[in-house]
This record gives sequence, C-alpha cells and structure tokens, in this order.
Amino acid sequence: MYDRYHRNIHYLRISVTDRCNLRCKYCMPEKGIKLLRRGDILSFEEIVSFTKIAVENGIDKVRITGGEPLIRKNIVYLIRLLANIDGIKDLSLTTNGVLLNEFAKPLKDAGLQRVNISLDTVDPDRYKEITRGGDFNRVMQGIAAAEMAGLRPIKINCVVSKSSDEPDALGVKAFCNSRKCNVRFIHQMNLETGEYAPVEGGTGGNCKICNKLRLSSDGNLRPCLFNDLSFNVRKLGSVKAFQMAIEAKPECGTKSVQNKFNVIGG
Ligand code: SAM
Repeated sequence: MYDRYHRNIHYLRISVTDRCNLRCKYCMPEKGIKLLRRGDILSFEEIVSFTKIAVENGIDKVRITGGEPLIRKNIVYLIRLLANIDGIKDLSLTTNGVLLNEFAKPLKDAGLQRVNISLDTVDPDRYKEITRGGDFNRVMQGIAAAEMAGLRPIKINCVVSKSSDEPDALGVKAFCNSRKCNVRFIHQMNLETGEYAPVEGGTGGNCKICNKLRLSSDGNLRPCLFNDLSFNVRKLGSVKAFQMAIEAKPECGTKSVQNKFNVIGG
C-alpha cells in the first residue's frame, strides 16, 4: 500500500518479545529493562491475525525480531504459522545467533527463509565486553548451523560507533568475506536525540525509500522508528491500526522518546 509520500509500504517487522539473553551496551541497560507483563505480549493468534490483515494490505516481506526472538517460547511454531500465510514472499528473522545452533534447522524446516545475525566484533573478549557477557563461540556455532541449514543469504548486522574502518568492523568484514556472508554496518543510533544514518551495505536509515512498519511485542504498530506515533492493534483492531499507521507515516524521522531498540527490534 502507498503512503502519502508515494512510498510502497510492504515490509513488516514484528518484535515477538522484549526479553533478550544479551545486554549489548548500546541497546540495553546493564540491569535490563522493566519487562512487559505476559498478558501485554501479543499471542501467536494475535500476531498471525494482524499479519494476515497486513498481507491483504500489501505487506509481502516479514521479519521477526525482538528482544531476542529465539527466546520466545515456541518460536518455531510461530514461524510455521507465518510461513503458511499466502502472500509473504520473504520471511526472515534477526537474531544475536546465540541459540541458532539449536534452532537453525527447525526454523528452516518450519519455513523461515533467511536470517540476519548481529555481530559487532570477531574478538571473543571484545564480544564479551560489548554484549556484557556473551559467548562468541556460541555465535560462531550458530552461524555455521545457519549455513548448514540453508538459511541464506546470511546477513551480518554490525553496529559501529563511528565508522566501518574501526578495528572491530574490519575484523567482521574480513570474517564475512571468508564466509560469503553479506555485512551491513549500522551506525550506532540514538533515538532520543534523533541521530541516525543510512546503513552501509543495506537500505535502512533512508527515509525517502522507507518501506516499513514495526509491530512491537505489546501490539503497538509504529510507522517510524524515529517518531513516537503508534497505533495499538488490540485497542483499534488490526484493520484500523494498519490504515492509521500508513496514513500517519511521516515523511522523515525526527526523534523518539518512546521507541527503544530493545523493544522495537532495531
Ligand atoms: N536480538 C536480536 C539481535 O541481536 O539481532 C534482534 C533485536 S536487536 C535490537 C536488532 C538490531 O538492532 C541488532 O542488529 C542491533 O545491533 C541493533 N541495534 C540495537 N541498538 C542499536 C543502536 N543504538 N543503534 C543501532 N543499532 C542498534
């Protein structure tokens, strides 16, 4: 469906949990966040029912994110339900990769097409530091499992603080070249002050071609990461929330106090 600025909005990112098994410094406070109550989190039935409405209205690309989506209970079953919706051409998931060794094959079998894996360094000590305790070896096993399972093309999301020439980023670039993974460098953003930049190697961060809507795990449909507008699918119903989000999608991002990467999924 086209918005007021003639952009074809066909990409829906669905955050399925606000919980995460890492505490990346730029994303989560060390002590974690105040978690949503279980009843506030959309059920699989609600997610699927909203997605069907979204697909009827032109969405053909769906990405599952979080928090960390692989810690949502029965995530493989949710993927199977979504994969069975006619009209989704591209079904993918963004993960930190820690649990991917266990989940890659079942996810592929359930109908997931590909994964984006977040990796900011290939130095195990730096990885532990950036993620506040993450085990680099588990991510390496996860990437290998995704390759084996055929979740391709694998894209690596690498957050950089200033430039893709930083030592950590160069290490990730070399690793990706050796593994034939695509790498995208995402400049560290600040939602509250409105600092954002185009993603290197990807299409994100460019308002003119933005094609996304984001559904948070508690049912808020947000037309822009850098804007506080949100339309709750439980309160408004899926059809109305979808229409209102499209109609309200701003021409350009400004800043957002309410959005949080750890809730809305980056
Ligand atoms: N847990 C999953 C993961 O790690 O990929 C999915 C959620 S995570 C919030 C999605 C993406 O957002 C990750 O690639 C992460 O690096 C990115 N992200 C988080 N905080 C960010 C920030 N302040 N600036 C830029 N990217 C950020």
